[in-house]
Amino acid sequence: MEEKIDFEKLREEMVEYQMKRRGIKNEKVLSAFLKVPREKFVPADLQNCAYDDCPLPIGYGQTISQPYMVAIMTELAEPEKGDKVLEIGTGSGYQTAILCQLGCDVYSIERIPELAEKARKTLQQLGYKPTIIVGDGTIGYQEFSPYKIIIVTAGAPEIPQSLVDQLEEGGKIIIPVGDLYSQELIRGIKRKGKLVKEYHGGCQFVPLKGKEGWK
Ligand code: SAM
Repeated sequence: MEEKIDFEKLREEMVEYQMKRRGIKNEKVLSAFLKVPREKFVPADLQNCAYDDCPLPIGYGQTISQPYMVAIMTELAEPEKGDKVLEIGTGSGYQTAILCQLGCDVYSIERIPELAEKARKTLQQLGYKPTIIVGDGTIGYQEFSPYKIIIVTAGAPEIPQSLVDQLEEGGKIIIPVGDLYSQELIRGIKRKGKLVKEYHGGCQFVPLKGKEGWK
């Protein structure tokens, strides 16, 4: 008989060893990671690896990001309940779920329709209510702008101007920028219409493809 996996315990260990001990401090963020069942966002045959300290394949050449990377991006965004957030790259929907769990009003764009559909179903089953949009997130989503936070979960050659335009004054964009193989995680805060940038270390994301991304 197959042994039942204690996902709750794995979740607690992930938060302790992969997040708290690496410097993630925001209690609300940590508590959201304790509540979202990551195993629901990975393919069925990889559920036993759902809490491993690495990204995992989710099909179509894409990945669910490493838990720590999702945590650091969320912490840098400093989300508060009710914040309007635009996420580019829904993927599995895990980052979307974390933002919903924090009480944000989330709009998430995914360019691969099959992934968007799967994520939409998973999020719905868990009771989260983000707006999932199929399209090119490099041009943002004008209709609901401006956004308090924009989180880009794919690697960009540069920060798309459309996203800067759709960010509210004082708002934050979190985005990996670099080449196709490695990037630097940037937090930009919009001050008087321009981004003030901070650099938060190296990372590796799948490419952000689109009009203002990789062609
Ligand atoms: N946030 C995701 C999660 O929690 O599973 C991880 C996303 S994965 C690292 C990056 C995603 O960005 C992929 O699903 C990819 O298809 C998507 N993507 C790439 N370019 C995009 C674009 N221009 N617009 C929307 N999605 C894009």
